[in-house]
Amino acid sequence: MKPAIPALAVLLGLAACDHQNTPSPRPANTATTPESAAGTPADASDSVAFQQLSERMVEDLWQLFPSWAVHEGYYAAADRLQVPDDAYRERVLAFVRDYRRQFGEIDSSGLDANASSDLSLIRNFLDRTEWEITEFRGYQWNPAQYNVSSTFAVILKADYAPLDERLRTFSTRMAKVPDYYAAAEQSLGTPAAPQLALAIQQNEGALSVFDESLEQKLAGSGLDAGEKAQFNRRLEATRSAIRNYIAFLQDRQKELDETRQYRDFRIGEKLYEEKFHYEIQIDMTAEQLYQRALQEKARLHEQMAGLADKLWPEYFPNRQPPQDRLERIAAVLEKLSLHHATKETFKAEVEKQIPELAEFVTRHDLLSLDPGKPLVVRTTPPYMRGFSVASINAPGPYDKGANTYYNVMPTGELGDEQAESFLREYNSYLMQILNIHEAIPGHYTQLVYANRSPSLIKSILGNGAMIEGWAVYAERMMLEAGYGDFSPELWLMYYKWNLRTVTNTILDYEIQVKGIDEDRAMELMVKDAFQQKAEAAGKWRRATLSQVQLTSYFAGYADILALREEMKEQLGENFDLKAFHEQFLSYGSAPVPVIRGLMLEKLDVKS
Ligand code: ZN
Ligand code: ZN
Repeated sequence: MKPAIPALAVLLGLAACDHQNTPSPRPANTATTPESAAGTPADASDSVAFQQLSERMVEDLWQLFPSWAVHEGYYAAADRLQVPDDAYRERVLAFVRDYRRQFGEIDSSGLDANASSDLSLIRNFLDRTEWEITEFRGYQWNPAQYNVSSTFAVILKADYAPLDERLRTFSTRMAKVPDYYAAAEQSLGTPAAPQLALAIQQNEGALSVFDESLEQKLAGSGLDAGEKAQFNRRLEATRSAIRNYIAFLQDRQKELDETRQYRDFRIGEKLYEEKFHYEIQIDMTAEQLYQRALQEKARLHEQMAGLADKLWPEYFPNRQPPQDRLERIAAVLEKLSLHHATKETFKAEVEKQIPELAEFVTRHDLLSLDPGKPLVVRTTPPYMRGFSVASINAPGPYDKGANTYYNVMPTGELGDEQAESFLREYNSYLMQILNIHEAIPGHYTQLVYANRSPSLIKSILGNGAMIEGWAVYAERMMLEAGYGDFSPELWLMYYKWNLRTVTNTILDYEIQVKGIDEDRAMELMVKDAFQQKAEAAGKWRRATLSQVQLTSYFAGYADILALREEMKEQLGENFDLKAFHEQFLSYGSAPVPVIRGLMLEKLDVKS
């Protein structure tokens, strides 16, 4: 089972990979010393003052958000559970105002590139945190924000200290659970229906963290009798607090199902634009990006139809093509999907491709790769299984030097029918695109570069649109460079994959702002974007539970492409693709417009 997303991760909207529903890789840092990534002249004293202030802010941040800290691998405040009441929210607002004032006193023109991009992330984070509390107010209508389990689960699983010590931390932390859920009930007004259903489901799942196996662990531990008795009392209180919260939510659900007085899960145009502004951080409104996605969809349909018509006689020598363009494309895509690995060979095929991708990148001079940081391909460990096909597991900011893993779903344990449907979806063509996206030169490569200008701030506040946008950009860039020898089959499958990214943007905007219903959403995905029904149904659910995040892939991708074209124009004959990529990645996971500003500034210095 997938662990519940911690409330704070929801609050901050941690980016998730479209195809895997797990937190996106975030760069790990190894130090906090400022290092000028772009080499712009900087005033050392301003940079030092900035560095000290941002370190102080992170320390205070972890005191205020200890659950978030645990998920970043920082355990010093792990025994504390913050009770989400009005007083707590006031403290968060005071924190925001205090640090906004202090950062306001720093002269940003004196900062180096790394520090000034950190500063823009910090300012955005402070504004956004305030907005979440004063405007968005998810704490009033999203009961799924309240769930204590995932942080407790990390404390049990992460091997950061001996078990006895972790059990003591666990025990102290449990003491606040009844107050936590009491505050949750008090904070909630009228919930939205999908969030209410999710809260019931995930809090039922939460009970598994506090089951009998925990009692066995305690019994076998070195805690003394008094500590054990106290632990068990707190454990009982924790279980009943969770059960009471579930009962409270079920009562609300019964009542709201009858009265139909649910809050609309659609947040509407104003909140959507604001959330887009804070979360995506590109120089475009959500409405403008939506218009752009509509144009892109039309363009992709055009390209796909051309390829499908070209491939038709080869794949259907005895069949007349249907009149409908979308039907022709769908038929060819279906045929291509039959080209796939077996459940026994899937992981080996993925593994084999990684060095091939690296070799291609090097031979075509697209980027320099660091051979000292190998990527370890492994079967997804049991506790992480459930949703992701493939994902990058990078060491956290406080976990220096750990391996980076490429987790691949264990296909061997799937039933035959399930395996067939999975293998068709991740067929031989799509598997290559997936490996480009996740590994080389996508997420994994971006991460290696981000770690060269270590920044704790970018590691914890990094921009999701830049991270996802880079991985989506990498797919296209590789194919443009001739990966796959311009095979029309690979391009057609790539367009289908890319169309999904574009459709995510259209879907999210049309649901949240324009109010379309499930039927229209399904048509958009199944008919216009060639998605499987099961996949589309899952996406509909996700789009009712989150807002804006689904646009991050296309937003970042479109912005990076536009920046590349702008740099080409600026540099003319001197434009070099490899230099562009390396410079772009050297600033870490900052918003694309911030990187753009730094790149243009450097051009001015040169000329
Ligand atoms: Zn991704
Ligand atoms: Zn098959």
